Order: sequence, then C-alpha cells, then structure tokens
Amino acid sequence: MSIILNGIGVSHGIAIGNAYIYVRASTEATEYNVPASYHPKEIERLHQAIKEASTQLNEIKSRIAADTPEDILGFIDSHLLMLEDPAFDEGAAAIIREFSCNAEWALQVQCDRLVQVFDEMDDPYLRTRKDDVIHVVQRIQHCLAEKPESKAEPVKLKGRIVISDDLTPADTLMMQHQKVAAFVTEFGGPLSHTAILARNLGIPAIVGVHNARQLIHPTEQLIIDGHYGVVIGEPDPRSLTHYRKLRQKDTVRKQRLNRLINKPAVTKDGVHILIQGNIDRPEDIRNLKQHDNTGVGLYRTEMMFLKDNQTLDEEAQFKTYKRALFRLKGKPLTIRTLDLGADKEIQESLGQGPMAHNPAMGLRAIRRCLKEPENFLPQICAIMRVAAYGDVKMMIPMMTSIHELDQVSALLENAKQLLRQRKVRFNDKIEIGAMIEVPAAALSADIFAQRMDFLSIGTNDLIQYTLAIDRIDDEVNYLYNPLHPAVLQLVKITIDAGKKAKVPVSMCGEMASDPKYTRLLLGMGLNYFSVQANAILEIKHIINNSNMGKLHTKVRKIMNCHDLNKIESLVDTLNT
Ligand code: PEP
Ligand code: MG
Repeated sequence: MSIILNGIGVSHGIAIGNAYIYVRASTEATEYNVPASYHPKEIERLHQAIKEASTQLNEIKSRIAADTPEDILGFIDSHLLMLEDPAFDEGAAAIIREFSCNAEWALQVQCDRLVQVFDEMDDPYLRTRKDDVIHVVQRIQHCLAEKPESKAEPVKLKGRIVISDDLTPADTLMMQHQKVAAFVTEFGGPLSHTAILARNLGIPAIVGVHNARQLIHPTEQLIIDGHYGVVIGEPDPRSLTHYRKLRQKDTVRKQRLNRLINKPAVTKDGVHILIQGNIDRPEDIRNLKQHDNTGVGLYRTEMMFLKDNQTLDEEAQFKTYKRALFRLKGKPLTIRTLDLGADKEIQESLGQGPMAHNPAMGLRAIRRCLKEPENFLPQICAIMRVAAYGDVKMMIPMMTSIHELDQVSALLENAKQLLRQRKVRFNDKIEIGAMIEVPAAALSADIFAQRMDFLSIGTNDLIQYTLAIDRIDDEVNYLYNPLHPAVLQLVKITIDAGKKAKVPVSMCGEMASDPKYTRLLLGMGLNYFSVQANAILEIKHIINNSNMGKLHTKVRKIMNCHDLNKIESLVDTLNT
C-alpha cells in the first residue's frame, strides 16, 4: 500500500528511485574520569583526532570535481577553518583540565556551549550555522572513537533516494558525485545546508519529513516531488505513470529553455525587455552566467556583512565590489547600499540598545545608514571608486521621503570631497537609483523619478508594507498576495512615473522572478526585470511568446478590477 509523507520542498524536481536509509554512525559521547597525570596524553589524543578530521576533509575536497562551484567548496573550507579554530582544540583541552574528563566528553561540552551561542542569534540563517559546529564535532568524535564514518558505497547510491536525519555538506557533495537521485531529511529548513546545496546542485530535495527513517522501508520504491514537498512510498502504477510523465516533461522543458541562453528577450511585437540577475555575493555571478550573459540588477551587499557578522571597511568593500565587476566582464552591476536591520542584523549591533518592537518598521536600510554615516560613507566611497572601472550603479533601499534623498545627496557630496582629497580614482557621475518598496515612495514615485537616474520596485517589502503583513511570519503568510489591487496600483503608479520622466524602472522583488506574473507586468508596461538566476530562461521564454500591445489592453481590465478572485482568474487567462 502507498504511503504519502509531506515535508518542505526545498529543491524542485521529480525523482523516482529506491530508498537508501543513510545511517550516520552514532557519536554518543561517553564520559569518564581522566586523572591529572594523564591530561597531557588525553589532550594529545584530542589533537590527533582533530588532525585526522582535517585530513579526511582535505581528502574529500581533493576528490570533488574541479568545476564544483566556489560556494559549495566553501562549505568544506568552512569546516576546515573551524577545525583550526582554538575553540575546538584549546577550548576542549581546557575542559579536560578543568573537569578531569575524557576528550569525547570535553568536546561535547564545548559543542553544547557553541551551539547555545548560535541558538541565541536572531538571524535565522546564522542560527542554522550551528549545524556546522555539530558536524565538525561529530567528525572529530568519530576520529576519537577510531570509528570510520559510515561511508556510502558508490555503487549502491547511484539513482537512489537518500533518506537521513540530516546530512553534512561533505556527505551531500560525495553523494552528488555518486549520482543520487534525491535527498529527504527529517530535519532542516529551507536555509539548512542540505537545502542550499541541493538547490545549487540541482538535486530534488525535501526537508522536515519527520520520522522518515521509520516510515520508509529500506530499498522501497519512492517518488519525490521537490516542488510540493511530497514523498510517495510504494507508489501504485497510476502514480508512477503520472510522475514519470511529469519528470519527462520537466527534462524536455529545461532542454528547450537552454536554447534561450544568451538570446535576447523580445516580445512578439518587437519590444526588447532587459532581464538581469539578483545576487548576494560576487561568487553568485558564476551561476548567473550559466543562465545568461547578463548584468546584475540587484546586489544585496548586506549579505557580506551578515556572512562576516561585522561591518567591513571601505577597502574590503571596494575589493569585493571590484571582484563582482570583473566577473561580470563588462555587464552592468547595480550595487544596493546596506539594507541592514529587521531580519538582517549583525552581531556587533546586537545588544546595543533595546530590541525594536517592530523591527521591519524600525531603523532599517537607508534610515539606519543615515543614522550611522560612519558606516554609510565607507560604502558609498567604495561604490563610487569601483564605478570608475565599469558600469556600476548605486541603488538606495527603502526610500520613504524626498527629505531622505536630500540627506543622501549631501552625504554623496561629502564622500566625493573625501575621495578628491585622498586623490583616489572614482566616478563622480555614478548613476543613483531608488528602490520603491514603501507605499509612500510609490505614491511619490513621480518626484523620485525626477530626481533619480532609475527606480527599482522591491515587491517583497512593498507587499509587506502595503498589506501590513510581516514577510517572515508564517501565520500571516496566506495573506501575502502580489495580486492585491492595492499592490498592483502602486506598481503601476511607479512604472508610469518612470515612463513620464523617461527614467528606467525595474522590478527586483520576487514578483519579477515568478513566471505567473510576467505577462501581467509586461502589460503594466514593465520592461526591465531583475530576477533569480534560475528564473531567467523561463521568464525570457514567456516574454518571447507574448504580445506587449495585446497585453496592455487585457491588463487595463485587470487594473480596473477590485475583486481579488476575479483578478486571479484574469491573470490565469493571461497565462493560458
Ligand atoms: C524587495 O523588498 O523586494 C527587495 C528586493 O529587497 P529585499 O528582499 O532584500 O528586502
Ligand atoms: Mg526590500
């Protein structure tokens, strides 16, 4: 009989194959007393185990393909770096001395302490980094126990669906090389390592399938639908036929879309549309280039601060931006100034005053930059400097009033003066744009359009602020709807304001990456999209099969409609 389990689909795609229950070796730490005279020996045992763990990881690293993306290799490198961190070596040695205990137990105590630090972090992404600590500790404990890790056998894994409690990045990479068909884990969320890696590697994956290892029998046949987060065990012939067809369709579709790589996006009636990519780090440009030789419409710079958990000085930022520009090989780079605050906070700012009751409405993005010019000035100096080397634009997030724009302009003049005094090369004619992501800004879009070189609509926040829905709160997620008439009006006002002032308007929020809305946006007059790299070809395909003129007429009808259900069905009609 079939069994259906649900989890969170974190990497799209359909896989059909036999289960492989991956049991990681138990690392239950034993505790025993070690007399003081034996401490040096015990500490040496710990050193050796750390060394051995490092050798194992280096071996894994040397066995993975040379063209593996940097961010994936980065996972292994981060574990290697952790192994060099005194927190493990010296920290655990101090515990051995303090409690006269064995290395395994000392390591476990140290691990619990570190995990607690991560648990207390507000940022959900950083909280998931505790997985790294646990994985590194487990590796050392395996070495201490002289127990080799349960290594998956290559022949057995090809085409199999791996079911596990969780997977380390190293496990995931090795399994990818053994050509596993999909991953299902009992724990983890969309930000867990397995999820990030699976997406990067293009392997269907579902996380959060509780008790999967108990409910799924070893070697039983499974269907995985990574889009909807569905696992079907012992599927009946009808389900198999259905999912085989879907999988086949998916493959054919991807192959077809690949033909659009580096081809222009032009509507049937000859309107050229610009599609660029959104990135978080210069490394992301490699993935972007695999989908299209295009530029970047949104570079979220705060991610580099979040990664290092601290502010970076002008020189460090300049080098990072320059790296991004060179990777783009002549294509434009739109650098968004810091959007720190709310759900994106760095350690050095935490604990400096009371937590805001409503951080999304608080000191965030440009508000924060204007309050902390000592952090903002180095960034604008770095951006203006890199703009001397190529097509670089600066984009300001969360603008709410023209008064803020006056303050930004004053700081820009200040930065130019500083750079002139220092006699460094910079572009004093750099184009400056505003993100329109607050209803107040959308309603003043005509004034912003007169003063800015370009506008970019940030729908993620525009929807949050228009509909009063916290974008990270699951409880109200069902109300988050880009098709709400109020949202559509604000988007349209912004597009029209740009047209009137002859200023380009792009959209870089997730609405632009969702193919469901492409025709609607074209019909509203949007001709510049900045999207996730993996959405580029799908969006281009829709554009190339649309008639802008006809869409204008149809979308006018949608804009006059106030009934959400009716709007939904009219948008469906546009897409059929
Ligand atoms: C947006 O709000 O749509 C946007 C692109 O910015 P972020 O998601 O980084 O807030
Ligand atoms: Mg935003």
